[in-house]
Amino acid sequence: MKISVVGTGYVGLVAGTCFAEGGNDVICVDIDEKKIATLRQGKVPIYEPGLEEMIRRNVADGRLEFTTDIAPAVRASEVIFIAVGTPQGRTGNANLEYVHATARSIAKSMNGRKIIVTKSTVPVGTTDKLRSLIKSGSKHPFAVISNPEFMKEGAAVEDFMKPDRVVLGGDDFRAIEKLKELYEPFVRTGNPIMVMDARSAEMCKYAANAMLATKISFINEVARLCEKLGADVGEVRRAISMDRRIGPYFIFPGAGYGGSCFPKDVRAMISMGKNEVEMSLLRAVERVNEKQKRILVDKVKGTFGAKLKGLTFAVWGLAFKPRTDDMREAPAITVINALLRAGAKVRAFDPEAMPEAKRIFGARIGYAEHNYDALNGASALLILTEWNEFRRPDFGRMKQLLKNPVIFDGRNIYDPRDLTRLGFKYFPIGRRHG
Ligand code: NAD
Repeated sequence: MKISVVGTGYVGLVAGTCFAEGGNDVICVDIDEKKIATLRQGKVPIYEPGLEEMIRRNVADGRLEFTTDIAPAVRASEVIFIAVGTPQGRTGNANLEYVHATARSIAKSMNGRKIIVTKSTVPVGTTDKLRSLIKSGSKHPFAVISNPEFMKEGAAVEDFMKPDRVVLGGDDFRAIEKLKELYEPFVRTGNPIMVMDARSAEMCKYAANAMLATKISFINEVARLCEKLGADVGEVRRAISMDRRIGPYFIFPGAGYGGSCFPKDVRAMISMGKNEVEMSLLRAVERVNEKQKRILVDKVKGTFGAKLKGLTFAVWGLAFKPRTDDMREAPAITVINALLRAGAKVRAFDPEAMPEAKRIFGARIGYAEHNYDALNGASALLILTEWNEFRRPDFGRMKQLLKNPVIFDGRNIYDPRDLTRLGFKYFPIGRRHG
């Protein structure tokens, strides 16, 4: 099948590459000339496990190409995916300017029947809106189908190649059949392709992210209460996760959720309620998370005092989660800014997000070459992302390097008893042995 994917970011690049891997001819389009030039040089602008090899293979086989010119891409394709960003607007709503601009460009370039697919996360009703927008810009026949994307950064290739489900929303039977054909190779193990109306499909994505964010804020609130009352959230989590109605996934307490999706999608869903549906649960989810992102700084100040002038803190982990270089809304940004505001110095390390951190913080913080280098003479270590390589460090070496053997662990990656035995003052989230 001949496909274009407009928007070559975390979603578009993975989707385009995986469609090419499935044997389709794919053109990835982006307005960012630097990004396209980088990709044309065979370099990948983002870190996503498995992606680079797959891009290289499909480019070499002639199934995948990159361009900034949308018109020929649209003309050459029967299916055009919209995967541009939908960042947060001024009032918490999703900003649709890039989606609308893309739809207008597609309409202008059409030369026959096209299937236009919204993969960007868009508010309920957007597919209908796009239909009228495209109709006013083109005389050619077309269908607009909603196809929300559920991939997780850090495992995006894997998720795309073997999705738990594919959701297709729309009422154009021919277009739906075509997309089913496109997705068939990805659901060989029997996971469903679910067809529904476009509005329900659009809602699926927000409901999924809102549910996951709710789970995180829920366990974070339980963790706070555990800490207050002398219970251990690690034990509590273990016990409740054995209940099949609850399950073990996504109930790990930490320093709050971040990333390019949960924060903005929760806010966009609240905004979709307007004044008619209060969305009080999601407002609370958001409030709990904002508080949680500051919990480590509260602990640091509780130990070292409110003024941190003259102290240096080591930070391990900057990305909003492991296996990505994405720092959008990462708790690390809130924590580091708060430390800097209190007069502290920060020396940070992340296995993949250092270039992104340098873009965000510039010379305001120091950057370590290696995780151990960050510790040299630091008053304490803060752990903000649970990269695997932080899980089994040389604690003896850490003790030697740190000025004080103090760890504030925003991801609960160590056993509090071990750390106490090793002579550390250890501050996890919601656990008794801190
Ligand atoms: P991103 O910011 O990484 O990429 C978006 C790309 O779109 C950028 O490269 C930008 O230059 C490009 N773009 C903007 N306007 C354009 C235009 N008019 N023409 C061509 N390109 C244009 O964003 P992302 O993380 O890939 O997210 C894209 C969408 O997918 C969002 O709606 C997001 O909510 C959704 N989504 C993201 C994830 C994720 O894990 N990142 C998962 C599921 C869904």
